[in-house]
Amino acid sequence: MPGPAEGWLRERGEVTVLGAILPPERYREAIRGAAALLPWAGDRIDEAALEAAGLDLKVVSNYGVGLDNVDVAACTRRGVFVGHTPGAVTDATADLAMTLLLAAARRVVEADHEVREGHPTGWKPNHLLGQEVTGATLGIIGFGRIGQAVARRAAGGFSMRILAHDPAGIGVVAGIHAEERGLHRLLQESDFVSCHVPLTAQTHHLIGAAELARMRPTAILINTSRGAIVDEAALVDALQRGVIAGAGLDVFENEPSTAPGLTDCPTVVLTPHVGTATWKTRTRMGELAARNILEVLDGRPPIAWANPELAGPAG
Ligand code: NAD
Repeated sequence: MPGPAEGWLRERGEVTVLGAILPPERYREAIRGAAALLPWAGDRIDEAALEAAGLDLKVVSNYGVGLDNVDVAACTRRGVFVGHTPGAVTDATADLAMTLLLAAARRVVEADHEVREGHPTGWKPNHLLGQEVTGATLGIIGFGRIGQAVARRAAGGFSMRILAHDPAGIGVVAGIHAEERGLHRLLQESDFVSCHVPLTAQTHHLIGAAELARMRPTAILINTSRGAIVDEAALVDALQRGVIAGAGLDVFENEPSTAPGLTDCPTVVLTPHVGTATWKTRTRMGELAARNILEVLDGRPPIAWANPELAGPAG
């Protein structure tokens, strides 16, 4: 992790840096006897991992906001606090969603390849035409911290009309005019659709073949949330058959792999889960993840945590 966080933890106790996502058995071996874990999205903290860590484990402090890799209920049953990094990730992830939207709309990757491969066509009236972003309609699925941050950028910077879908309601958010829509109408009415929901049993494959079929043939799908929100095989099929025009994806169903055919689709822009990958954000995430651990070691709940039912002194 960039920044001072690792140093703070080393001042407090023995720190083992695994530095890579290990296979489950090796991970379980590595975390035996730990008082605190600081996993990344690819580290699975399930019953078996908690059992392997043992009774000294007090806190799982996730380096990220999404907790689909952590069995929060199992942690709660064992009295283990679950910390995460909401807020710290919002701006960088919203920036990347806009980056993918603009890049897919304006076919930046295809254009870059053309120049890089040494045969640029030069200016032509109908060459590499894409979708206009300014004034277009953006449908946001999941109107929480990141969804709202994307809406702010899109409306404020690009005069986009914002439609939003969130079962918790979209409320009134200062500075954003968003129109609430059911999922199906949002898909039908949007030029761009951007997903910002947590991955849960309810949101797994929220966007499948039927949902893609409701989108416009000129529409572009952006996903910076979790890969399994979108049925990736259905997306490849939709792109190949021209059901939608393009996609911008930062996350994949089986990271780091991608579905067969995805990388052959010229109108997709792909990034390898780098939504939060700026020096500032990764530093802030580390600081919050470390402080979540230090609070628990000092007998208090984490600063940002997902199982408040454990309120009371730690340990
Ligand atoms: P958040 O909790 O503030 O917002 C999520 C919103 O989704 C909530 O308002 C919730 O009500 C809504 N929601 C839940 N189920 C829904 C459904 N079925 N349909 C529509 N809306 C639904 O979370 P956030 O901080 O905005 O983060 C969102 C997700 O983004 C995280 O859970 C994480 O998985 C992902 N993320 C990815 C990256 C990356 O590197 N690509 C970085 C940060 C976060």
